[in-house]
Amino acid sequence: MRRIRANAILILTVAWILGTFYYLWQDSKPSSSSSSSSSGSQLKNHGRLEERTLPLIQQGQLFGQFDEKTFLSSKQLKAGEDPYREHAFNLQESDRLGSDRTIRDTRHYRCASMTFDLDLPPTSIIITFHNEARSTLLRTIKSVLMRSPPHLIQEIILVDDFSSDPEDCRLLSQIPKVRCLRNERREGLIRSRVRGASAASASILTFLDSHCEVNTDWLQPMILRVKEDHTRVVSPIIDVISLDNFAYLAASADLRGGFDWSLHFKWEQIPIEQKMARNDPTQPIRTPVIAGGIFVMDKGWFNHLGQYDTHMDIWGGENFELSFRVWMCGGSLEILPCSRVGHVFRKRHPYDFPEGNALTYIKNSRRAAEVWMDEYKQYYYAARPSAQGKAFGRSDVSKTLCRSGYGDLQYFSTSLSFFNGTQKEIIDIYCLSINTFDTLERARSLTECRTLANSLIINNKWTLIEPQIRQHDLCLAITAFPAGSKVRLEPCNIKESRQKWKPRGSSLQHMISGLCLDSQPPSGPPLVAQCRPQVASQSWEPQLVT
Ligand code: UDP
Ligand code: MN
Repeated sequence: MRRIRANAILILTVAWILGTFYYLWQDSKPSSSSSSSSSGSQLKNHGRLEERTLPLIQQGQLFGQFDEKTFLSSKQLKAGEDPYREHAFNLQESDRLGSDRTIRDTRHYRCASMTFDLDLPPTSIIITFHNEARSTLLRTIKSVLMRSPPHLIQEIILVDDFSSDPEDCRLLSQIPKVRCLRNERREGLIRSRVRGASAASASILTFLDSHCEVNTDWLQPMILRVKEDHTRVVSPIIDVISLDNFAYLAASADLRGGFDWSLHFKWEQIPIEQKMARNDPTQPIRTPVIAGGIFVMDKGWFNHLGQYDTHMDIWGGENFELSFRVWMCGGSLEILPCSRVGHVFRKRHPYDFPEGNALTYIKNSRRAAEVWMDEYKQYYYAARPSAQGKAFGRSDVSKTLCRSGYGDLQYFSTSLSFFNGTQKEIIDIYCLSINTFDTLERARSLTECRTLANSLIINNKWTLIEPQIRQHDLCLAITAFPAGSKVRLEPCNIKESRQKWKPRGSSLQHMISGLCLDSQPPSGPPLVAQCRPQVASQSWEPQLVT
């Protein structure tokens, strides 16, 4: 009896050990052949994997007669060729991955329990491309078809922007729902997207770059937000697909779009006030501008806004332009943390710009500034003096469109700071600078710019929303009306006349008293004094804070 019991315990122990080993082996095994690359297995250890590769029957329904093998194999990298040359990413690695690898579900865990309306409207997906690699383009399309509820995908419109090989687009249109439009000449992404949007038959437009991978349930949150309010323009959190090894990496959920005065897009940390107001990580993040490549919006709203400025060429600036239009017409822009799309961010454009890269960007951004930024365009020219005098074409975009108000215009100035003096004489430079972490009591004086070697570091960003000069919820105010009165920061109040300023040339004039902000070098506190044009201590220049 005792022997039998001992045997049973032994058997159970062995079974338990074997079971544990089997479990561990299963867990470390790549989930499909395609994710066996170093990146795939590396990522697997850090989080949930989303659904496995679809069964063959379903693949057949989604991809029809499309012959993937022939499509991909006819364009392989030749031995000895530089894998980065043609696309500015590692083509060899992209080709090796396969077209439907699994990727990690990078959303906040709470997103997974969200439920969506069943009657969401379908969308037309618009992908413009110029000489995209076949493997990345196919992966973009397949990820959309495999990770979206089929009834939400009305069609995928490929706009082939005059790529060298027309077959890239034509062959892909053998996939059910995929349509191919080919430009007869190179138009650039702006006009190509407008063409795609015009051809779209669904009421909601979804724009994607040609080297993306959409993630689990990426589409529903975006369509839902636009369905609820057609004036919303929404984008996902854009995850990073490594240009070297194609690892799929989660991007921070604490960023929103921003820009500097030279109209360069940049990601910026969500300001602390906005962060505090968001107690639910699944909530949308309001953003001043969208990154541009990946977003969803209502087609009627896109048309109402006048689409894009079709005089912009090749690449760039259109994201600002569209965002400005949205503000002016009372719409909103947001990033949805429960929607994730991966994108291969590159360090250079792999394609040619017929008029040169720099000139094209200047032309496009100058158009955005000239058409939409009114008096704020002076900051653009201050930051980018070379733009002055450069051609930007006819400015025939309707300026009167929805000019009722500026909505979120304060975002315009998030990276504005003022300084006066000259850079050569560091000693003379005084910044309108307050350390945000100081208490209110201390945060009331102009301070010397911090200097590092010979460069300026300005730690404070001011927003100029006429007539106020703000730092978050605090406004620059004079303490009294006579000349010589100090200035200080106090809670903003739009009715408070002590807080009203007007930029005059390079000086900042208090409206009622007519006095000018004076840094009173070398060490005195800031004050207002009789305006003396050209005097260095009263000359305030917007300075880019990067
Ligand atoms: N694109 C295009 N025509 C052009 C330039 C770009 O259709 O003349 C496409 C490009 O293939 C990509 C999208 O526009 O799908 C955005 O371009 P890119 O990825 O180079 O921009 P980035 O993501 O680097 O901002
Ligand atoms: Mn891109």
